[in-house]
Amino acid sequence: MTAETVRAALVRAAAALSATSDTARLDAELLMAHALGVSRDRMLLGRLDDPAPAAFEPLLARRQAREPVAYIVGERDFWTISLTVGPGVLIPRPDSETLMEAADEHFGSGGPARILDLGIGSGALLLAALAQWPGASGVGIDRSETAAAIARDNAARLGLGGRADIRLGDWAEGIDERFDLLLCNPPYVESGARLAPDVAEYEPASALFAGADGLDDYRRLAPVIGRLLAPGGLAAIEIGADQGDKVMALFARHALAGSVRRDLAGRDRAILVRA
Ligand code: GLN
Repeated sequence: MTAETVRAALVRAAAALSATSDTARLDAELLMAHALGVSRDRMLLGRLDDPAPAAFEPLLARRQAREPVAYIVGERDFWTISLTVGPGVLIPRPDSETLMEAADEHFGSGGPARILDLGIGSGALLLAALAQWPGASGVGIDRSETAAAIARDNAARLGLGGRADIRLGDWAEGIDERFDLLLCNPPYVESGARLAPDVAEYEPASALFAGADGLDDYRRLAPVIGRLLAPGGLAAIEIGADQGDKVMALFARHALAGSVRRDLAGRDRAILVRA
């Protein structure tokens, strides 16, 4: 019997994963590229007729057990950057790029000078913004030491360490500076919600769940957003798909006039507050 090719292994793996993943073929390709130690593009362009590496099978088994691809391969692309991720930080989602689009429209090429990322996690939002605007610097806060360590590592790897001050903290407690851009992807899932096992069994609950109605962290953020924004500034705060009206109402009680920004799928995804 001749060895199975990369091409054949991808077909087999995509079929095996299709029962549990909406992105079965993509998952298989990312895992195979990782097993081969090349980029997905290089694999697709030149390695499909190679023998499939033995290292692929254990990666496939992990994905079949619902472990997220980003944790298996240890990285995920977001906006224009690639981030190291692992258990302990939320995997950056394309939905969150909605915040980057809003910031880009607000500031254009001039960019913000000072940026604050509350709940920095892997560093996705702050580091994407620092990569976008070379003149900017910023502060990232997280309550989790694991997250702060991963974010610092990402900042250093991306050559952004000199412009990113990443600290442990509880939201904006102790911060008295005003920022041009405030980015925040807080937890916003209702504590009783049933999430896919890929999320519920692997990603940090502290980054996902925010009380019975999912709004606990917006209640903590609403009173402080006003004092954190510099004149002309923008706060872009992620929300869940059905939370636009509820978070707007909550913010209005703190004299914050916001607008809802939708994601590419047309769902509520962020509240924008302009100072
Ligand atoms: N968008 C994430 C999910 O649905 C939730 C992220 C968050 O709570 N900030 O899995």
